[in-house]
Amino acid sequence: MKVIVLGAGLLGVTSAYFLRQHGHDVTVVDRQATPAAETSFANGGQISVSHAEPWANPSAPLKVLKWLAREDAPLLFRLRADLRQWLWVLGFLRECTPGRTRHNIEQIVRLGTYSREALQALRRDRGIEYDQRTQGILHFYTSEKEFEAAEAPAAQMRELGCDRRVISADEAVRIEPALRHVRPRLAGATYTATDESGDANRFARELVRHCEADGVQFLMSHTVTALREAGGKIDHVEATDSEGQFQRLRADSYVVAMGSLSPLYSKPLGIRLPIYPAKGYSVTLPVKDESMAHQVSLTDDEYKLVFSRLGDRLRIAGTAELNGYDRDLNRVRCEAIVRRVEELFPGAGDTGRARFWTGLRPATPSNVPIIGRSRVPNLFLNTGHGTLGWTHSCGSGRSIARIVSGLKPEVDFAFAGV
Ligand SMILES: Cc1cc2nc3c(=O)[nH]c(=O)nc-3n(C[C@H](O)[C@H](O)[C@H](O)COP(=O)(O)OP(=O)(O)OC[C@H]3O[C@@H](n4cnc5c(N)ncnc54)[C@H](O)[C@@H]3O)c2cc1C
Repeated sequence: MKVIVLGAGLLGVTSAYFLRQHGHDVTVVDRQATPAAETSFANGGQISVSHAEPWANPSAPLKVLKWLAREDAPLLFRLRADLRQWLWVLGFLRECTPGRTRHNIEQIVRLGTYSREALQALRRDRGIEYDQRTQGILHFYTSEKEFEAAEAPAAQMRELGCDRRVISADEAVRIEPALRHVRPRLAGATYTATDESGDANRFARELVRHCEADGVQFLMSHTVTALREAGGKIDHVEATDSEGQFQRLRADSYVVAMGSLSPLYSKPLGIRLPIYPAKGYSVTLPVKDESMAHQVSLTDDEYKLVFSRLGDRLRIAGTAELNGYDRDLNRVRCEAIVRRVEELFPGAGDTGRARFWTGLRPATPSNVPIIGRSRVPNLFLNTGHGTLGWTHSCGSGRSIARIVSGLKPEVDFAFAGV
């Protein structure tokens, strides 16, 4: 079967890889000149099954209200005259009940566990190198209140088979000695030894090489302008190439993996995807003082920042801003991240050579991605991965490839239309 995958981010590339493994003739189309050049470019690097608590949870509405007026807030809603944004916020509030939160955590952990195994298997099969580290993820707390609040989600993770242990501040420093500087302020931590980290962009580019060697075709610098339906199915995709030439691309099946732009292209087909861009920031610093630099991937729950070690670079990422498709770098938010890094690991990174980046997370109100069938029989979805698209990429790609091939997915997850 001929399959066109729309989008060459983490989700498009993993979809293409697994579709090819099922024997399909696969073409990937992307508007950028290189793969993984948008949201999959400089993310936090965590393969984090343990980070399953969605933004929408019972304590979120109060926190978000408190943060509304703070320019450096970890989660900032900049409300605008945008109906899609308001509908998303209403959907978010609906997901904040204890019942919905529990349901969403279950989905996220199941897909995460499956996905981490799929990544490990792919690594074994192909020997891909991407500055990966398998030293677990340590969530640390500098506030007693936040640490206490972490016990319940950690217990829930354990119930769901994710071994997120509550540990003392001393144990945290034993696992990551770079935390010694803030030891007096550490309230405690949780540690998930089975979690991982690595450079998502490098992984995607390496996987593209393997896909190409396997015969997948990549049409880069091609902008999709519309998906056209005829006779109850997608007949073709319209695109323009790098020279502005109009193209009609045809296949038997199509997979939408266009990140936060997916809803704009599905809407004319009557498919409303509850996806809204949530802008995040990352800072990449060359290591300056090895003795102060972290090795283990870390999560600073209080400031909603994640820290990964990518070779000789430190990557720190986080914060979320709902402000449409704007990707401007806000200096206040960049400086807030660097300030926190310097507070925790003074001198570890070369702040003078900091590289700042923003990306738009394709966020759903529940944090649960949309993977599966759509109302159009030959149109499939693999999008809306929000905060955990790197963690969920291999499991989502492997699952959508099975669904397109008419096979049952291997994980118990609320797939769309399956
Ligand atoms: C600051 C930040 C930190 C993060 N940290 C982590 C983390 O630590 N762990 C984790 O698991 N996840 C993390 N994420 C989330 C993760 O990066 C995303 O979920 C993931 O990259 C989404 O991948 P995607 O393929 O859906 O989207 P994208 O990477 O955006 O890919 C979509 C592709 O579609 C293409 N496209 C769009 N429109 C068109 C068009 N009209 N024509 C042709 N092509 C088009 C784009 O060019 C793009 O290449 C983070 C995200 C951010 C922003």
